[in-house]
Amino acid sequence: MEKKPFIEKILALKEEKGYKILAHNYQIGDIQDIADITGDSLQLAELAEEIDSDKILFAGVDFMAETIKILNPKKKVIVPVKSATCPMANSLSRATLLAFKEKYPGVPVVLYVNSTAECKAEADYLCTSANAVDVLAHIDSQKVLFGPDKNLASYAAQRTGKEVFPIPGENGYCYVHNSITVEDVKRSREMHPNAKIIVHPECPEEIRDLSDYIGSTGQMLKFPKNDPSNEFIIGTDIGMIHKLKKNFPHIRFYPLKEYFICHDMKKNTLEGIYESLDKEEFEVSLDPKIIEKARIPIRRMFEIMERV
Ligand code: 13P
Ligand code: SF4
Repeated sequence: MEKKPFIEKILALKEEKGYKILAHNYQIGDIQDIADITGDSLQLAELAEEIDSDKILFAGVDFMAETIKILNPKKKVIVPVKSATCPMANSLSRATLLAFKEKYPGVPVVLYVNSTAECKAEADYLCTSANAVDVLAHIDSQKVLFGPDKNLASYAAQRTGKEVFPIPGENGYCYVHNSITVEDVKRSREMHPNAKIIVHPECPEEIRDLSDYIGSTGQMLKFPKNDPSNEFIIGTDIGMIHKLKKNFPHIRFYPLKEYFICHDMKKNTLEGIYESLDKEEFEVSLDPKIIEKARIPIRRMFEIMERV
């Protein structure tokens, strides 16, 4: 089927069924373009609460849809594909988290929003890549347990001077950002000598050290506005390039590496979204006790954000 009439069919079905579409910044351009809201994990979590609809279709990966459900337990949240997940979020099990809590009694636990709902329910604070530094800085403890991303843990430790224990440790990383090499950075600098390099904090320390700016996907979208450069190399999933080009048509953006792709995020398709709206599935459902407990560390994160 031709794309334009198909997109019109999706938009008509969305209206008819009363859904709003929320999409993460890593979605393919066509999905971003039909979404009511696009954003980074923090923006999506905040905006989902304000949205004037009790039906949400979310295009992203499972932990993000679950966060929306935790914050909006009365709303119906559906996802087009059940298998779109985040391997890093799944690298920390509840059992491992509880074992670390036992080993470090009294040390606060900060979990990255890229974590399972049952782990969130055991955390003291949640954070996203946009606010990990602020959350850590506001915690009244020099020692902090932080998981599951060891790279975001080292970034937050560097910026705050806190003693951060990464959980689960060496196995907690994003397969997409952690695969970037120093050679990738050097090659892209040679190809585009006048461009500034922007990377996500999920990149390893040696990559962050070679960059000009580090930020969440939402922060990356704001950066070019106040920077004089007109060329940027983007160190995160290529879905960001679509949005950056749309927001700054006069600026050039290059991916840091050709296949910089989160394959889980790309499991969402226009066809999948149509089917999902048509059948109103797959619904995100969580144990109400987990929802109640997991909301507490998320609320603490929002309280800190109000103070910074
Ligand atoms: P953002 O919060 O920056 O959108 O990051 C989410 C993510 O999964 C990055 O890999
Ligand atoms: Fe998870 Fe990495 Fe994909 Fe983000 S890019 S959703 S951290 S696998």
